[in-house]
Amino acid sequence: MTETTADFHPLSDAVQPVFDTVRARSPHEPEFHQAVHEVLHSIGSVLEKRPEYVDNGVLERLVEPERQVMFRVPWVDDSGKLQVNRGYRVQFSSVLGPYKGGLRFHPSVNLSIIKFLGFEQIFKNALTGQGIGGGKGGSDFDPHGRSDAEVMRFCQSFMNELWHHIGEHTDVPAGDIGVGGREIGYLFGMYRKLTNQHVSGILTGKGIGWGGAQVRTEATGYGAVFFVQEMLAVHGETLEGKRVAVSGSGNVAIYAIEKVTQLGGRAVTASDSSGYVVDDAGIDLGLLRQIKEVERGRIVEYANRRPGARFVERGNVWEVPADIAVPAATQNELSAESAQALIANGVRAVAEGANMPCVPEAVEAFQQAGVLFAPGKAANAGGVATSALEMSQNSARQRWSFADSENRLREIMGDIHDATFRAAERYGTPGDYVAGANIVGFERVADAMIAQGVI
Ligand code: NDP
Repeated sequence: MTETTADFHPLSDAVQPVFDTVRARSPHEPEFHQAVHEVLHSIGSVLEKRPEYVDNGVLERLVEPERQVMFRVPWVDDSGKLQVNRGYRVQFSSVLGPYKGGLRFHPSVNLSIIKFLGFEQIFKNALTGQGIGGGKGGSDFDPHGRSDAEVMRFCQSFMNELWHHIGEHTDVPAGDIGVGGREIGYLFGMYRKLTNQHVSGILTGKGIGWGGAQVRTEATGYGAVFFVQEMLAVHGETLEGKRVAVSGSGNVAIYAIEKVTQLGGRAVTASDSSGYVVDDAGIDLGLLRQIKEVERGRIVEYANRRPGARFVERGNVWEVPADIAVPAATQNELSAESAQALIANGVRAVAEGANMPCVPEAVEAFQQAGVLFAPGKAANAGGVATSALEMSQNSARQRWSFADSENRLREIMGDIHDATFRAAERYGTPGDYVAGANIVGFERVADAMIAQGVI
């Protein structure tokens, strides 16, 4: 991605210098700039009412990670060839609790992407109200097409360095793109071996039999759909009978599709980096999970095996008419043109299951068209919130039932919705969930930073 100064709207006088410094100090990090700009844009009005945030240099401190680690990850592939990847862990803010955020394994991973994700995570985690700080990590390793043995060796090498920097009271990673139950298992096993300790609370997203929590796997997708339910409920509407377009076919997408179906909606699309499928009868979740979770296959397989479904190679999933859209693949996957296509087809609500999947112009277009729009830091916070529940259960050596965990997730998503909705009203932008989420997250973090002094 390239960017120019013209790519960003000017900010208020209080925050523009902070943004200029971020760009000057980290010039080749466009995704990080995009994430910082969105937050700074939202909090201009907060700084006018609360000058103590400016006086205490809260912003200058927040945009600089507390610590960032980059490291070599050498491993040997199945043919005996040595491979070298780069590993990252960016520990952004621990003012509310231990750093918490996922690990992403994808060839596109670089420092800009990890910093944007870590920065978002600070406010998302604050929104959950669970006492967790913000961090993120990962590697440019591509698990696609790799054998289980290769993925294991990579994970072991990655943890061989990462373990120095994490701990149940310091930093607790989880999964993200390319890091699911298999990878968490290998990472956890290596941590245990290196430390000679079985500390369950060192990673979240673990298997249910060895410290994992019920509903963690489902939480991000379920949570995004609960958030849609909350937004619709404000207007006396429900998911019943709604057509839903979902992108991606990984962890978030699969469980968003499941919850939409359980709540009476009809999810009609899924995608991966090769294209998308449309199934007007409603996505067959059993088949999708078989192809993606068991066989680790490509999405075209779904159309090959499901009568009535069709595959569109390299197509734009947002051209499919839908009442609700849940982008759940990756950042900047939904362009301004895609937003216009969704609006022209009458979309009612958009909830970001992925992190920053909508480009800023798309967000603006949705808001101007009166589409209910939920930003990722609110809509996909269910994953990390349930990770925090996993941490609580680990430290108390408790196990909650699926029903209890799902109820807790539903309550948390309701609380996040209500807090963001009220903040948007309080600051004179009713219905603007982007502003609401940024304001609530920022105020919670900023208040703690001031209380804890300059450290
Ligand atoms: P998965 O790896 O399980 O699935 C990712 C899906 O998105 C795959 O279908 C993948 O297709 C597709 N995808 C990834 N990158 C691209 C790309 N560059 N272009 C097109 N398609 C792509 O990841 P998750 O479901 O866990 O994560 C999805 C999103 O949700 C990410 O933005 C993540 O940060 C966010 N998120 C995840 C949480 C979690 O709990 N897992 C929590 C909060 C947010 P392919 O296999 O072809 O690459």
